[in-house]
Amino acid sequence: MVLKIDHLGIAVKSIEETAKFYTEALGLTLVNIEEVEEQKVKVAMIPIGESKFELLEPTSEESTIHRHIEQRGEGIAHVAIAVDNIEEALAKAKAAGCRLINETPQVGAGGAKIAFIHPRSAYGVLIELCEKH
Ligand code: ZN
Repeated sequence: MVLKIDHLGIAVKSIEETAKFYTEALGLTLVNIEEVEEQKVKVAMIPIGESKFELLEPTSEESTIHRHIEQRGEGIAHVAIAVDNIEEALAKAKAAGCRLINETPQVGAGGAKIAFIHPRSAYGVLIELCEKH
């Protein structure tokens, strides 16, 4: 079952620099910064209502976020949808003919299970499926 928009992933060159906009101009609060080695990014979470902004700063040139910034500049990288069962959600997307970037879940920020659906199957939007424990 699909639950809600969990977060918007935003590619940034510098979390320190970008966070100032969200905290000073919008009055939001940065609650957590962590490094997610598997995705080669540093991640900052900024809650907004029931959802979050997820600032993603690449820690390596091999990071897909680094490539995103090189090719398209900073900005929205993905939309993450919270699901209660990621394996089920992946199977459903696959059965519907979607191209999956991850056939099996990976580890994301906060230890969540995450997997991406290719933007070609989602009309230009990179969709992250996200299951929290
Ligand atoms: Zn994300």
